[in-house]
This record gives sequence, structure tokens and C-alpha cells, in this order.
Amino acid sequence: MNLLDVYSSYNVNPVSGKGCYLELKDGTQVLDLYGGHGVISIGHNHAVFANNLKHQIDALIFYSNAVENPLQKKLADHLGRLSTCERYDLFLCNSGAEANENALKLASFTTGKSKVIAFENSFHGRTSAAVASTDIDKIVSPLNSQHKVEFIALEDKVALENCLSKGDVCAVIIEGIQGVGGLDEASTGFFQFLEIKCKEYGALLILDEVQSGYGRTGKFFAHQHHDISPDIITIAKGMGNGFPIAGVIVDKEIPVQKGMLGTTFGGNHLACTAGLSVLNVLESEQLMDNVSKISSYLKAKLEAIEEVKKVKGKGLMLGLEFEFEVVELRNQLLYDFNVFTGGSSHPNLLRILPPLTIKELEIDQFIHALKDALITMNHA
Ligand code: PLP
Repeated sequence: MNLLDVYSSYNVNPVSGKGCYLELKDGTQVLDLYGGHGVISIGHNHAVFANNLKHQIDALIFYSNAVENPLQKKLADHLGRLSTCERYDLFLCNSGAEANENALKLASFTTGKSKVIAFENSFHGRTSAAVASTDIDKIVSPLNSQHKVEFIALEDKVALENCLSKGDVCAVIIEGIQGVGGLDEASTGFFQFLEIKCKEYGALLILDEVQSGYGRTGKFFAHQHHDISPDIITIAKGMGNGFPIAGVIVDKEIPVQKGMLGTTFGGNHLACTAGLSVLNVLESEQLMDNVSKISSYLKAKLEAIEEVKKVKGKGLMLGLEFEFEVVELRNQLLYDFNVFTGGSSHPNLLRILPPLTIKELEIDQFIHALKDALITMNHA
């Protein structure tokens, strides 16, 4: 059997990982500034994380939600405290798309309405309503496009209110900072307008923090830079540092009945152990402080590089904009300088999503590699 040919991948084969580094099969050490799409939060194979998983494997790997699992409550308590979201409840699932799918479903159950407002360049996942709310035509099948979704430009308050005022909108879904779309983000004024207008017209505000959450921007959630309280927040990626786990964080005011949401795998013992380990390390190693410190250090270094025209994003969710397409630069960085970086739908943007544990020395390695790669390209 062959694998379905749906991915374009790089010609490297990582066999082990430690902190910000991946070791390839031939022994090469690669500095990982991408963390497999922003998943690696506390570093590859963090000792606490790996040991906790090993112990849990020896005890019990999985049971479904048909039994009591105190690890789930422990995870919810720790998450509530560290994110300061104690007035929300948690539903555990397995991936970002599943979290958004359930968030949208819950908004529709709650309001009795079915239209969604999403934003231009958004990405919310590849399943039913999540992909219909994603602004990339080629990944939306005719089946998905049956959902009623209106796309609005970020900051367009008039279009937003026009759409909401028709009274048929169940949810507005927005990323804390756009990831796949190219690191654009709404202003504080727009986020606050959104919160007020959703309340006024009876739609729920869903903050997709799948990529921007879990400390990546220096605060637990990116929307916390804007002083708003969404109705629902979705989380995944950094939550499990590579172990599949995701969540829907729901305001206690939203009425939820038994059976409305569910999953076989979500919240299993091993997943909860991964989630708890991430929260413990985020807190004990003060990683959100590290994000802010390293982000300033990196931005200062980037300012001195002429070819970097703009730096978008916050914390360690950054987009470096060039005047040229970055495909060749990414190849150079990986194959000639052993640095893995990301792209986005914006062809001129290099996306940086390193582990939140990254140190100044590793940033220096990246800056040297970037300068050398740019010199090599200029002389080619
Ligand atoms: N939402 C955002 C903002 C994302 O960046 C992604 C994935 O990149 C998703 C949702 C979908 O997550 P998953 O691939 O875990 O389904």
C-alpha cells in the first residue's frame, strides 16, 4: 500500500529531538524554528514530559469518557488557573479542526442559528464547518461549501455590523493572530468592537487560539493582549507538545446539555498526562516570560537586517516579510544551514514558531544562518 500523496514534504528524516533541535538520520542537528506547525511548545522530548508519559503508559494509556478520569479535572483546574479563564468550562478533544467544529456546533445549538462570520485569509481546519470557515477555496469541497459562511476583511466594522444585523449569525470565528494566512491580526479596537457587536446581535464570539494560544505570544492567549472575553476559545497545537490533544473552552453562561458534544479519544489518560506536563513546564520554567524576552531580542536583531522589510505577529509567532518569495530562502536555511523555518499563504513571509524554551544562543545561530543564506542568494 502506498501513502495517499497529499503532502509536499522536505527531504529530511528526523529520528530524535531535544529542546530546539532535531537530529536527522545522518546525524545532522537541525535548529527547529517551526515545531511541526507550532506544536512544540516546551521543546522536543522535554525530560518531564517524556518521563510523565512513560509512567502513564505503564499505568493506563486509554479509557473513554464512559468512566471517571480525575486527570481531566486536574487539567481543567490547572488550565483555568494559568490562563486566568476560571469562568469557563473545558471540553477535551483531539485536534484543532475538531475543537473549532465543536465550537461552531455549540454556537449553533445555543443560538438556534446557522450562519458563520469568518475573516479573509482565515484558517480554522479541514473538517466540515471548520473548513467552510477557512478562506482557502481549494481545500473546500462542494460538500463543505453548503455551510453558510460570510468572509469579511479584518477591521471592516461596517461589513461586520451589516452581516450581524440580519440576525441569522450563530458565531463569529477569528484567530488571535492569523497563522496560515500570514500573521495578520485585528487591532484592539476591532476585537473590542467585535465583542460588543456579537453581544448586541446575539452571536457567539469564538477565538481560535489553536496556534496563537498556550503562551506563544507572551500571554496565555493572544486575545488577552486586547482585553476581551470571548464566549468560546479553541486550543490545540502547543497544548500537548506533540501529543494529539485539543480543547473547547466554553463560558459557563452558555447552556450545554449532556450528549451535545462527544468523542471517543478526547481527554484520554495519556493525552491528559501530556496536557498536564505542558502546563507544569510552562509554569515552572516561566516560559511566557521567556517568550517576551526572546521576542524582543530577536526583533532587535532582525531590525539590523536590511532584507527583512517587516516583522509581523507577537511573541514567538512571527512572520518575517521579504521583497521576494521565500521558497528558496527556506530551502537554503534547511539544506545548507540546518535551520527549519515555516511558510504561509503569503509567499514572501517566513513563519517562525520555535519552541517557547528557545534561548538567545539559538536565536544567534538563526541570525547568522539567515545573514549567510541571504548573502549566498544575493551572489547566486
Ligand atoms: N486553527 C488554526 C488557527 C490553525 O492554525 C490550525 C492548524 O494549522 C487549525 C485550526 C487546525 O488544527 P488541526 O490541524 O490540529 O486540525
